[in-house]
Amino acid sequence: FLEVQDLVKSYQTGENAFFAVNQATLKMEAGEIVVILGPSGSGKSTLLNLIGGLEKATSGSIKIEGNEICNLSSKQLGIYRRNFVGFVFQFYNLIPNLTVRENIEICAHLGKNPLAIDTLIDKVGLHAESHKFPSQLSGGQQQRVAVARALVKNPKLLLCDEPTGALDYKTSKEVLELFEEINKTYNTTMLMITHNDAIKDMSHRIIRIKDGRITHNTLNTHRKHAKDIDW
Ligand code: ATP
Ligand code: MG
Repeated sequence: FLEVQDLVKSYQTGENAFFAVNQATLKMEAGEIVVILGPSGSGKSTLLNLIGGLEKATSGSIKIEGNEICNLSSKQLGIYRRNFVGFVFQFYNLIPNLTVRENIEICAHLGKNPLAIDTLIDKVGLHAESHKFPSQLSGGQQQRVAVARALVKNPKLLLCDEPTGALDYKTSKEVLELFEEINKTYNTTMLMITHNDAIKDMSHRIIRIKDGRITHNTLNTHRKHAKDIDW
């Protein structure tokens, strides 16, 4: 499904080049949940943003369903992002003056086969909140809106950068259960960055990154379900 080969993202700092991502190579199967772990500044977000087409690689290759995205024009990359990728970030980035339903609705037309909005609102457990505004919701509810918004266009790939970073443990668990359920229902492939070591337990595969380099890429043979994770 996804094949990353020798991916490099470097920044010029004076005389020297700094490598935020250095020769990263990885593969993901369709429907996999993969977690990226690593210290602050190790290149996790940069790797995710490169795969999501938010940043351009210095060199290397990213193939999604066999299609190279590293040599796309900005316009083509925009189409790739809109049709193919959903993003969830630590801070929900909802539009404050739109209701829950409207926040989700404005993203629905972006994909080719959008999901039914009401089904999705039910799925993320926000039926009773659909006419509320973001400021009237808890952090966990806001993150569920953000998840619904990322999913409504039915992306094949969901990229999450610390999706539970702003949530307490109980709410994190609920959001993780939601991810797991969505993965099962829609077979969405998920690449998830986290600082929370517990989250790795629900992934199919764990990638560790240090100083821009992938140091481990291992199948998680002790996979647990989100509800069984012991924090
Ligand atoms: P965190 O866990 O704190 O979010 P991270 O693993 O996501 O960290 P990145 O945001 O990917 O780290 O950054 C990797 C490295 O690249 C960092 O050292 C950062 O300072 C550097 N970096 C990121 N963007 C730029 C930029 N535009 N110019 C120069 N250096 C940058
Ligand atoms: Mg980061």
